[in-house]
Amino acid sequence: MPELPEVETIACGLRPQLTGRRIVSVAVRNEGTVQGDAAVFSHCVPGRVIAGVGRRGKLLLLELVPLDGPGGPDAPDATGGGAGGPDAAGPAGAAVDAPSDVPPDAADLMTCRDAAGKMAGSSATGAAGASDNTDNTDNTGNTVSTGSAGGNRVPHLLGVHLKMTGRLFVYGPEVAPNTHTRVIFGLDDGNRLFFDDARKFGYVRALSEADLATWDFWRSLGPEPLEIAAPDFAALFRGRRGRIKALLLDQTVIAGIGNIYADESLFRASIRPDAQAGELSPDRLRVLHGHLVDVLRESIAECGSSIRDYRDAHGDAGAFQNRFRVYGRSGQPCVACGRTLTTGKVGGRTTVFCERCQKLK
Ligand SMILES: [Zn+2]
Repeated sequence: MPELPEVETIACGLRPQLTGRRIVSVAVRNEGTVQGDAAVFSHCVPGRVIAGVGRRGKLLLLELVPLDGPGGPDAPDATGGGAGGPDAAGPAGAAVDAPSDVPPDAADLMTCRDAAGKMAGSSATGAAGASDNTDNTDNTGNTVSTGSAGGNRVPHLLGVHLKMTGRLFVYGPEVAPNTHTRVIFGLDDGNRLFFDDARKFGYVRALSEADLATWDFWRSLGPEPLEIAAPDFAALFRGRRGRIKALLLDQTVIAGIGNIYADESLFRASIRPDAQAGELSPDRLRVLHGHLVDVLRESIAECGSSIRDYRDAHGDAGAFQNRFRVYGRSGQPCVACGRTLTTGKVGGRTTVFCERCQKLK
């Protein structure tokens, strides 16, 4: 499954292809791929403009705004008739307009803004960015009316979870869907965004403010590892029962980490994956956080890790798999000490570590 760096890479690749584009049609070829309210999805997504592409944990996010911007007539708080409602000046993103019971950090939309993969800020697209983008769109088209959906049911985010085999590609009109194409988004420039998913574990979901306030998955997501401060990261594990790797993989503890970056960061931090998290000192957990941030940033800079069939938005493979020190290196010598690496299971997942270099406490 793509982890944080791979989803970040896909988002960065899709951003220039999709930002400012209006979705003119949606064709659902496998109903099970659409989660949440299918009526909201099929009636409200067409006509909206993609104002930004971001990420939260492993969930890829397209920010949706009305054709005339966040304050347009079908903005959530507007009463219709052209002038935006009192809250229309805010961005359509979750950060500002989220209901008060959504933790601010859980509502943040993550993004990277430069090729080096540095993470910039916690809000992917502010109001200025969104209106800049929509200025470039074709203003002759008509926005599909969303009035019947009710105010707070209007989606302002489209979440895409790739799970095991999901892929997002933008194709020209000459490219036909294949047997694994589950949803097709027609764009106003004639291109089409395909969501292909061979195993069908992935999903797309239109998200209104009401959805964000009630969707357990979204509400339970832990903090972003590239945003949280080291002391706060250490505090996540204080008094926690469970092995450190199992907690790193738990998306409600911290978001976006999977098997690759758990194993790699624990090796660099000299911590055994089966160590009891609550028995690790705050100092060791702060060291772990530093290595986790490093390994994620290095991978983003290498366009992610390509194992099995991951490809970025251009169909290219990442290169970080060439830097793996433990992941996938069962039975090979430790790069630090030469001892044969140990393979076991932690939290039900195959785990590779060095018994000499990595410690329980
Ligand atoms: Zn070693």
